Amino acid sequence: MSKVSLVSLGCPKNLVDSNNLIRKLSSEGFLYSSNNEDADILLVNTCGFIEDAKKESIEEILRLLTFKTDGKKLLVFGCLAKRYMDEITREIPEIDAIWGIGDEDKIVEYCKAAINSHKSIVKSENKRLTTDDYRLLTNPYSYLKVSDGCDRGCTYCVIPSIRGPYRSVDPDNVLKDAERLIKSGAKELILVGQDTTGYGKDLKGYDLRSLLKDLSSISGDFWIRLLYMYPTSINEPLLELIAEQDKVCKYLDIPLQHSEDKILRLMGRGGNRKWHVGLISKIRNAVPEIALRTTFIVGFPGEAEEDFSGLKDFVQGMRFERLGVFKYSKEEGTPAANMKGHVSEKIKKKRFDEIMRIQSQISLEKNKTLLGRKFRALIDETDDAVAVARLYSQAPEIDGVVFVEGEGFKKGDFVDIEIKEVYDYDLKGIIIE
Ligand code: SF4
Repeated sequence: MSKVSLVSLGCPKNLVDSNNLIRKLSSEGFLYSSNNEDADILLVNTCGFIEDAKKESIEEILRLLTFKTDGKKLLVFGCLAKRYMDEITREIPEIDAIWGIGDEDKIVEYCKAAINSHKSIVKSENKRLTTDDYRLLTNPYSYLKVSDGCDRGCTYCVIPSIRGPYRSVDPDNVLKDAERLIKSGAKELILVGQDTTGYGKDLKGYDLRSLLKDLSSISGDFWIRLLYMYPTSINEPLLELIAEQDKVCKYLDIPLQHSEDKILRLMGRGGNRKWHVGLISKIRNAVPEIALRTTFIVGFPGEAEEDFSGLKDFVQGMRFERLGVFKYSKEEGTPAANMKGHVSEKIKKKRFDEIMRIQSQISLEKNKTLLGRKFRALIDETDDAVAVARLYSQAPEIDGVVFVEGEGFKKGDFVDIEIKEVYDYDLKGIIIE
C-alpha cells in the first residue's frame, strides 16, 4: 500500500488544508506516514506569507530532497508554490509536481498516477487511517477553518493575490467538521480564516453569530476560540453573544497592526487610533474578563520616530493581555513594497525589542493579578510530574501556558486549578478539588 508523508508549514489555516488533504488521500486508499524515509510520496504544504516563511519553505523543500531516493516523489503545493511556481520549478527541478491553492482533487489524482507508474517502495505496517482517528495534530485543540481568501486591501499583504476573494466555508461543512473533531477528542475548536469576522458575508442570512450559536449547541464539553478578527467588523450583537455563550472563550484576537492614523491609512486598514481606543473599551465593557490579543507591525514604510512613539503610548495605555509584534517584511507585488520611507532592519529590530519589552512588563503585571485565583484549565500535555495546560485566556502556540503540578489527569482533561506562581508570560498552578 502506498504511503504519503506531509510537512505543513505556515499558519493554522494551512494545517487545516493539510489535514483535509490527508483525510482525502486516506479515503482513496493511501496510508499516512510521519516518517519521510518510509513514504512513497513526500508532500509539502508551503507558506509564502512573509520573507521568513518563504525561507523556511525553501529550506524544507531542500531538506526533503535528501529523502528523495528510489523513485520517491516530491510534491509541493500551497501559498509559496502558487506565488513562485515558475521560479521554484526552475531552481529545484527535482520537484516532481507543483500545485497552488485549492487543487486538492488534482493532488489526489497526481498521487494515484505517480503510484501507478512506480511500485510502492516501502512496505511497513502502518494502519489505514479513518477520518475519525486522523488528525495531523494530536493535541486537544483543533483548528476549524471557516473561510478562505480575503477582500481587504491591506497594502503589505499578499494573501488576497494568493488565495483570492473571500469565501465562507458552507456552514453545514463547518458544523460537520466540528462534530467530527469533537468526536475524535478535540476539546477546543479554534476558528480560523483570513478574517473570521467576515464569515457569512457571502451567505444568505447566516453569519459568525449564527455559526457560534450552532457550534455551541454541539453536545460535549469543549471550548470555542476566535482568532483573526478584523477590528471594524466587531459589533455589539457579536460581543453580546460572546459574553453569553459559555462555550465561547472570553478571548479575542484582533490584529490592529498599528495605532497611528497615518500608518493605518498607509496600511490600507480600517479605523483610526480614536476608534480603536473606543472599540477596546466597548469590548471590555461588554465582555468582562475578556483576554484581548493583538499584533502590530513595526517598521512599516514611512513609520517615523514619532509614529513609533505613538504606538508605544498606545501599547502602554491599552494594556493588552496578549500582544505579538512583526517586523515589516517587504513583499513584492504589494503596494507597500513601492512606498517611500523604508525602514532599516536595524531600526525595525530596535522597535520590535522595545515593544516586546513594554509588553513583557504589562504581561507580568497582569499575571500578578491572577495569583490565588481559580480557573478551569485544559491539559495540553502531560509529563511525569508536571502538565502543560491553558486557561481560556491562553491560545495554543502563540500565548503563554500554565504549568500544573499533580497527578491523575491526562491530555484533554479539563481541571480546576489555583494560580500559585506567575512569570512574564507563563503561570504555575495546582489542582484544586
Ligand atoms: S485582512 Fe489584510 S492582512 Fe489579513 S489577509 Fe486580508 S489583506 Fe491580508
